[in-house]
Amino acid sequence: MTKIEGQAALVTGASRGIGRAIAGALAERGCSLVLTARSAERLEEVEDECRRLGATATASYPADLSEPHEVDRLAQDVKDAGWIIDVLVNNAGRGTTGNAAEGDPGDWDRMLALNLHAPMRLTRQFAPAMVERERGTIINIGSVAAIEGMTTSGAYAASKHGLRGWSLSCYRNLRGYGIKVSLINPGFVATDLTHRAKGARQDRMIRAEDVASAAMLAVTTSPMCCPEEITLRLTRYAYD
Ligand code: NAP
Repeated sequence: MTKIEGQAALVTGASRGIGRAIAGALAERGCSLVLTARSAERLEEVEDECRRLGATATASYPADLSEPHEVDRLAQDVKDAGWIIDVLVNNAGRGTTGNAAEGDPGDWDRMLALNLHAPMRLTRQFAPAMVERERGTIINIGSVAAIEGMTTSGAYAASKHGLRGWSLSCYRNLRGYGIKVSLINPGFVATDLTHRAKGARQDRMIRAEDVASAAMLAVTTSPMCCPEEITLRLTRYAYD
């Protein structure tokens, strides 16, 4: 296993699911971890888990990332505490229903704030220091909904298409400084997000640890190589 000791990562949505698995994988590689999500209690549990797995230091900052001022406060608090972020993982996100002729546009706005605007704001906050040091990795968790339309969740697909445009643009913008920007597009993953998906079989879904393995590619390739976009597909149909 390639170790990345000496680096610090900020992982959003780290309290469960994919974010928790990514935090664990970074901890195993000796990274220091700054964790965020809304649930302070769950973050403490994940901090303990990360220390057991090998994280050199941990901290958690609860925040509601669908609120722009909380995103900015989080970034400021992390910087004020002296953290220098080498790896930014923009993972927090949620689904919503709704398409052309149905759904709640107010809810879409809040979902877009979390799925798209928060990653943009956090990148804007932490990329300048990466540029200055000419190193850093930004991992954005997209979705197959970033590259395909969706019949029932067009609003979610719009948020992830937006994130894809942002991620690919950041790669182009930052590659001259030796910074990696990776987008990971999973299909169905067995997490709380898909737990209630009617008729979908979680035993046929991708594991959160598979997404973490893809994320680790971005941090363990040589500084000369950036996995710009990785799509993870199911090997079986999740619906019977
Ligand atoms: P999950 O198990 O529901 O976890 C979501 C994480 O985001 C939790 O840590 C949650 O913590 C945090 N979060 C939710 N709302 C938040 C808010 N307003 N402010 C701050 N944090 C918030 O979902 P997941 O499946 O791991 O999803 C993670 C990412 O993968 C999302 O971006 C999702 O779109 C993407 N994805 C998932 C799938 C899938 O099938 N599961 C497929 C493709 C892409 P708190 O509740 O404590 O805030």
